[in-house]
Amino acid sequence: MNILYNEIELQNRIKEMAEEIDKQYEGKEIIAICVLRGAIYFMADLTKNMKTPMQIDFITITSYKGTESTGNINIINDIRENIEGKHVLIIEDIIDTGYTLTYLKKHILSKNPASLKIAVLINKQARRVVQCDVDFVGFDIENKYIVGYGFDLDNHYRNLPYIVYEG
Ligand code: 5GP
Repeated sequence: MNILYNEIELQNRIKEMAEEIDKQYEGKEIIAICVLRGAIYFMADLTKNMKTPMQIDFITITSYKGTESTGNINIINDIRENIEGKHVLIIEDIIDTGYTLTYLKKHILSKNPASLKIAVLINKQARRVVQCDVDFVGFDIENKYIVGYGFDLDNHYRNLPYIVYEG
């Protein structure tokens, strides 16, 4: 296992992202939606560093088994807040093929928010199959399967405070 981003690198970049996102929402209140389970630590660290007033909510989805997307996205638990007319920020762990976020975006937009923006910690641009715009990106990486800091392999390794890859 090799370290891709250590704790300090992660925290520094997330603080920068928090500032960047705060700037975009000046004078507004938001609902931050954490996509479980992968975005749990990113969401916690990002929102702790933000000054924008917010409510938080969670949505649980599944799409992966092992290291491959099943392409079949299921919502296990939907959000609880009414987001109609509210400014929504989706906080997601990784954008890879783009299927998950495309699906989520459509799902959230069907609830008529005032606006929708997306923050992802990791972008794997080379793997994109469907085009999907994201507003805030932590790191652009090559095609590596990563674990740690919320990212799993069959639900293991999520609690590592850094991100690692095999190879
Ligand atoms: P997409 O639908 O964009 O292909 O995949 C997005 C989801 O796949 C992410 O939310 C994440 O859960 C999972 N995923 C994609 N790449 C990786 C990876 O390198 N490691 C882990 N643990 N999950 C990944």
